[in-house]
Amino acid sequence: MFWCQGVVLKTKPMKEADRIVVLYTKEKGKLGTVAKGSRRPQNRLASLVQPFTKGKFLLNGSSGLRDLSQGMIIESNQELRDDLLKMAAANYFLELIDSSVETEDPDPKVYQTLLLGLKLLNLSSDLDLALRYLEYRLLGDLGWNLQLESCTGCGKDLMKESALRFSPVQGGLTCANCRFGDEVSLSVKGRAVLISFDRLKPKALIRLKLESEDKKELEMILRHAWDSRIETKFKAYQFWKEVSSLENSNSGKDFRV
Ligand SMILES: [Zn+2]
Repeated sequence: MFWCQGVVLKTKPMKEADRIVVLYTKEKGKLGTVAKGSRRPQNRLASLVQPFTKGKFLLNGSSGLRDLSQGMIIESNQELRDDLLKMAAANYFLELIDSSVETEDPDPKVYQTLLLGLKLLNLSSDLDLALRYLEYRLLGDLGWNLQLESCTGCGKDLMKESALRFSPVQGGLTCANCRFGDEVSLSVKGRAVLISFDRLKPKALIRLKLESEDKKELEMILRHAWDSRIETKFKAYQFWKEVSSLENSNSGKDFRV
């Protein structure tokens, strides 16, 4: 038996009253567990195994699906479940982590980004921008840093270049001589925002304001960057897009009234 600190990434019903609970833990990375009886409302594990919950978990078993028999909540992150938009954004963020890490391959950087992400999505009023920041940061954590200052082919300095081309497969810019064939254009401003993410403190991110065109460009670049790394079609991303576009069209109506 051992204790782990971690976050519930997702759950799935199992048999009549059990749940499969996937955790991302500080000590062991992503882990599959079974929380027996946790679908019964009075069960003591029921509130512990809700997605987004940060807690301490007592696990049993040496490999495969461990038994989750006890635990305690450190942060319930209930706010993320109470707000449909935040819930959809957080679900997508956790799906991104779930799909990009191997089982039992702990990574302190990914764990930090996971905790930071839950806080950011809770506090931020611009969830789109927060997601871009997290997508960018997670790429870096996984060793897929985007190369935005020089050519990925020949290393030529492109900081003075004004017509930038980004290759998703190369994971960065290419110069005119090294075109790879999959490039999309990237504005100088878009590049500057992405580079600033390397140094930007989360508190400053919450205050950052961007035009919607700029945000669309960042979304397009990061979507391409992720799609070239992982084949999964993110269901949670589609759900987030649907929910947030609905919200935007509703706020437009309010504005006209
Ligand atoms: Zn080049």
